[in-house]
Amino acid sequence: MNKYDYLIVGSGLFGAVFAHEALKKNKKCLVIDKRPNIGGNIYTENLDNINVHKYGAHIFHTSNKDIWDYICQFADFNNYINSPIAIYNDELYNLPFNMNTFSKMWDIKTPDEAKTIIEKQKADLHITEPKNLEEQALSLVGTDVYEKLIKGYTQKQWGRPCDELPAFIIKRLPLRFTYDNNYFNDRYQGIPIGGYTKIIKKMLKGADIKLNTDYFDFIKQNKNIANKIVYTGEIDKFFDYKYGALEWRAVRFETEKLNTDNYQGNAVVNYTSADVPFTRIIEHKHFEKSESEVTIISREYSSEWKIGDEPYYPINNDKNNELYKKYGKLASEQKNVIFGGRLGTYKYYDMDKVIASALEIAKNELS
Ligand code: FAD
Ligand code: UDP
Repeated sequence: MNKYDYLIVGSGLFGAVFAHEALKKNKKCLVIDKRPNIGGNIYTENLDNINVHKYGAHIFHTSNKDIWDYICQFADFNNYINSPIAIYNDELYNLPFNMNTFSKMWDIKTPDEAKTIIEKQKADLHITEPKNLEEQALSLVGTDVYEKLIKGYTQKQWGRPCDELPAFIIKRLPLRFTYDNNYFNDRYQGIPIGGYTKIIKKMLKGADIKLNTDYFDFIKQNKNIANKIVYTGEIDKFFDYKYGALEWRAVRFETEKLNTDNYQGNAVVNYTSADVPFTRIIEHKHFEKSESEVTIISREYSSEWKIGDEPYYPINNDKNNELYKKYGKLASEQKNVIFGGRLGTYKYYDMDKVIASALEIAKNELS
């Protein structure tokens, strides 16, 4: 008899939610992760009384009340509202694109004035149906906002020109003609007080956990360890890159402790000019208004990915989406393996979508 009902590969949010649901049904779960910590990309580490988002800043937001209620079982959330600042050369703007941004950019006051300027800039471009991110952005906000706040940032972030990127990436950002700097339109938003790692710890209570353990090494020695595998690693790697490698963007975080209690006055400051090598600076203490005499900042450098690097963002262009379909077909033929999460499904998922998908899969699997 196998020792476990499920071997869960990856202790990120997907693996942890699935494990939690399986444990509630008295299933025996072993969770392995190749990293030295649980939590995947949402792992937070407390340093100098500040919860540092080690693999990138994470703000929880959702419009789905069921998902909000679900995550709130595991933590109290504060009332943090994400309102990033964008710096372009010596100019400073509010994000997302809203009346504060437009009034600063064009020295205007009313929505009508902003709309008139954008419409005039759009009319000169003659874009009828946006085919890529550049056309989508230009037809939403016109040339000025595109040139100053989108073009440089996006090219740094994705390492590709905007006309080679899918339009949906920019549709993530709200565009508003009100004075409202809330980055998200979602009804529910916040940061878990005390960090995300506590959430994952609670979800995994009752599971056996092995860190610093890579699935591909582990399974060679432990072929019959579980009846089923839940795999949240890279899908193409599972099939030994049979059809070629899917492309990702990697991120490098340069984290620094500074002897000041407030470095930039905001959690998120984006640097939108192509000349600045990093995309944004995160000042972690502002997420939870943490009391500390020092501060910790992370500069985010987006970089090209190669096999063996940590994958962060899937590059969902046509070429990669076609390739993913082939791996998806192979995955659906695997009777005893469930593929999930950002890496397992090659999707640019936010946390709420990952939870929803893990719950759906767990429901089908465990009922
Ligand atoms: P992951 O967190 O990547 O977990 C997968 C785990 O599997 C990892 O721990 C990995 O080490 C492990 N693993 C992989 N391969 C193997 C192997 N072979 N053997 C063993 N273990 C393996 N979402 C939001 O909602 N709000 C945000 O503000 C936000 N900010 C983000 C910022 C950045 C920089 C990034 C990259 C993502 C952000 N996201 C945000 C998305 C969020 O990180 C994901 O939705 C979520 O973390 C995905 O969880 P997951 O379990 O699918 O993947
Ligand atoms: N973006 C931009 N300028 C900014 C912030 C974002 O052009 O100052 C674009 C960029 O293409 C980015 C996309 O909007 O990839 C989505 O931004 P988001 O903040 O959602 O990115 P994430 O949090 O996933 O890194």
